[in-house]
Amino acid sequence: MNALYVIHKYFEIKDGKKPSHPITVIFGAKAAPAYVIAKDIIHLILCLQELVNNDPEVSPYLKVVMVENYNVTLAEKLIPAADIHEQISLASKEASGTSNMKFMLNGAVAVGTMDGANVEMHQFVGDDNIYIFGESSETVIERYKKADYVSRDYYEEDEDIQRAVDFIVSEEMMAVGCKENLERLYKELLNKDWFMTFPDFKDYVKTKERMYADYEDRMAWAKKMLVNISKAGFFSSDRTIAQYNDEIWHL
Ligand SMILES: *Cc1c(COP(=O)(O)O)cnc(C)c1O
Repeated sequence: MNALYVIHKYFEIKDGKKPSHPITVIFGAKAAPAYVIAKDIIHLILCLQELVNNDPEVSPYLKVVMVENYNVTLAEKLIPAADIHEQISLASKEASGTSNMKFMLNGAVAVGTMDGANVEMHQFVGDDNIYIFGESSETVIERYKKADYVSRDYYEEDEDIQRAVDFIVSEEMMAVGCKENLERLYKELLNKDWFMTFPDFKDYVKTKERMYADYEDRMAWAKKMLVNISKAGFFSSDRTIAQYNDEIWHL
């Protein structure tokens, strides 16, 4: 989702629609050894890093960083430095999420789906201090049950999705990347898109634009950060362990 957004932004900047503040998108990720599509996604991000950062027209406004070997030592540096954190799992897929708590405690503001601990964070900070987008777990679960999701319909209907997805297998991308990985990812999105990226894409883009616009008001943004920090106490490990004990362990 975020990689598609980076492509979307890349085209916007090329078209002259420049963001008021430069944006740096940092990805920290690892793929399980057999998770082929996850590796293809990382490959795409590495290609984007190469293309975007070396494009003199775009790189003053947009940078892409794929952190190698993301681990706790790196997280300790990245999390306190972030202004925005993305908790964008498809609703119903993330049992909890703990990175969101780490970012919240360090004063970053979340863009996220109604999933995992985002739901509790939203309850505590309210609509003004978290950016929620996308379909509900109920809608997503229903869609899996009916098995009636056809990603190609969204692709054919939405020019932005089409442009971003086509770019994965463009000449420019092939020049820096590996055909096998890029084509497999392209086909996965068009023929399956198991994680239903396309239905939420429009709302995701809209929500990020709203977020970037709000960021321009530095005082209002600082207030959002403070509200997030002040409401993070609920995620204390003492409270969590006590509740586990009351509800499950009964020690
Ligand atoms: C917290 C953390 C995770 C787990 O993140 P979730 O949001 O709970 O999936 C993974 N890797 C590192 C380095 C972390 O610090």
